Amino acid sequence: MIQIENLGKTFRTDEVETIALNHINLHVQPKEFVAIMGPSGCGKSTLLNILGLLDNPTTGLYKLDGKEVGQLKEKDRTKIRKGNIGFVFQSFNLIDEMTVYENVELPLIYLNVKSAERKKRVEAALKKMNISHRINHFPNQLSGGQQQRVAIARAVVANPKLILADEPTGNLDSKNGRDVMDLLTQLNQEGATIVMVTHSQHDASFAHRIVNLFDGSIVTEVANHL
Ligand code: ADP
Ligand code: MG
Repeated sequence: MIQIENLGKTFRTDEVETIALNHINLHVQPKEFVAIMGPSGCGKSTLLNILGLLDNPTTGLYKLDGKEVGQLKEKDRTKIRKGNIGFVFQSFNLIDEMTVYENVELPLIYLNVKSAERKKRVEAALKKMNISHRINHFPNQLSGGQQQRVAIARAVVANPKLILADEPTGNLDSKNGRDVMDLLTQLNQEGATIVMVTHSQHDASFAHRIVNLFDGSIVTEVANHL
């Protein structure tokens, strides 16, 4: 599903040049669950953003489902992203002015799904995440664990093949963190490919494979025996 060959990313701001990723080679199979670990600043989020077509690499190849997507314009990246890739972030990134229902509905509006069908799919996603009872609440009326479950509902409502999660349990206590990991594991078992950045060895133990980054390069890859 994901083929990355000799990929590099350099950020340039005025005088400063930061090499965030260097000679990355990474293949992810359909239905695989991969964890990315490594110290702060080693390039994990940069890699996830490139995988999710939020940013382009500076050098190298990125093939998604066999199609080269590494040098697309923003407009074309957005087109592929919609419906194909779901994001979950450490800070939930819900829209404060919108209810739970409206937050989860948003990806379906972007996909021009009709209103009645949207309602059906939003309700199903919220039910699956055990958060139906908060459907008309606003994000700031929810606990962190509840907000993350809404964010996962939003990430999966359009049924994406690829789920990218950047430290999804980073702002949660251990009980809520476990719930989030159970939900991600369930989505993986139902067929979603997942790439997750984490600082937690325990969270990484749910993945099939752990990729360790250091200073912008992959230093080790370890298969988990589940
Ligand atoms: P991690 O997620 O592993 O903590 P990041 O991918 O966020 O690391 O960052 C990797 C490196 O790239 C860091 O040195 C960071 O400062 C730099 N970096 C990330 N994003 C940008 C950006 N938009 N502009 C300039 N430098 C950036
Ligand atoms: Mg990061």
